[in-house]
Amino acid sequence: MENEKKFPSRLLRGMTKDGSARIVVADTRGIVEHAHKVHKTAPTATAALGRLLTASSMLGSMLGEKNDSLTVQIIGDGPAGRLLAVSDYYGCVRGYIENPAADPPRKKSGKLDVGGAVGRGSLTVIRDVGDGEPHTGTVELVSGEIAEDFTRYFAESEQIPSVCSLGVLVAPDGSCQAAGGVLIQLLPFPDPATVDKIEANVPKISSVSSLLDEGKTLEEIAVLAFDGIEFDPFDVIDVDYVCTCSRERMKRGIRSLGKEKIAELFDEEEKENGKRELTAECRFCDKKYRFTEKDFKTVIKPKDNGKGEKK
Ligand SMILES: [Zn+2]
Repeated sequence: MENEKKFPSRLLRGMTKDGSARIVVADTRGIVEHAHKVHKTAPTATAALGRLLTASSMLGSMLGEKNDSLTVQIIGDGPAGRLLAVSDYYGCVRGYIENPAADPPRKKSGKLDVGGAVGRGSLTVIRDVGDGEPHTGTVELVSGEIAEDFTRYFAESEQIPSVCSLGVLVAPDGSCQAAGGVLIQLLPFPDPATVDKIEANVPKISSVSSLLDEGKTLEEIAVLAFDGIEFDPFDVIDVDYVCTCSRERMKRGIRSLGKEKIAELFDEEEKENGKRELTAECRFCDKKYRFTEKDFKTVIKPKDNGKGEKK
C-alpha cells in the first residue's frame, strides 16, 4: 500500500551498557494506516487497534525463536468489542477490532477516549513457542487505554518492571498522522542508579506519537529515554502489517466446521444468492476467497454414495 512505502514502520532495539534495561522504540504509522484502510476504522477504533498492533509488534520482536508467534487479545465491555493482534518473531503484525465503528465522544481534554471504547475486561497474551503448550497470561484491564494494561501484564504475569507508552494520532481526515510506542524493561539485578535515571527520563517520552509527529527519529527518542546513561549501539529493523492467510488455510478452517454445518452454509447461500458458492473473508486483511462444494468433496459426499465420509 502506498502509505507503507511513504511511512515504513520501524523498530529500534537497544540496551544500557550495564545490562540494567532494554528498550524498544517503534514508529508504526504505516502499520496503523494500513489497519485503518483495511478495516475502515473510526478514529477511536484506529487508536485502540493501532496501540494494540504497536505493542504486539514490539513484544513480537522480543520473541526468542524464528517460528515463535504471539497473540494478544483484549476483551472489554465497551463499544469496541474484542480486539486481537498477532505478531511474528520479526515484529510483523496483523489484527482486527470487532467493531471498527466504535467512536465514543472525545474526553474533556480533546483526546480520543480509547479507554471508553474498550471498557472493562481482560488482556491476554499467548506465546506460541515451538513445541508444547502455548504460554498464556491474563490480567484484568487497568483502564482500557492499552499501555497501562500492558504495564500491568508485564508486572503481574511476567514479573518484569516496565515502562510502556503507546500513542496514535489521528488526522482530521481520519488517517493515521503518527503512531508509535516505547517499551523499557528492567533486566534481572539492575543498577539502582540506572533505574533512577530511567524513571527521571520517563516524562520526556510519555507522548511518543507527539514526538514522532514533531519529526523526532527513533534514535532521538531512545536517547531521550536513556539520557545520562551509557548504552550499546542501537539496532533498527523494518516491520510491517503482514497477513498470512491463504486459500488452503481458509479451506481448512471451513472444513473444521464439519459436513453438516458446511452443507447448511451452502444451502443458505443458494437461498440468498442463487448459487451454491461460499465466500469466506479473512478477518485480518478482508481478502475474499470463493469456494464451491467441489472444494469440500472429501467432507461432503454426493448423496448417492453410500460409503459415507472418507478422510
Ligand atoms: Zn488475510
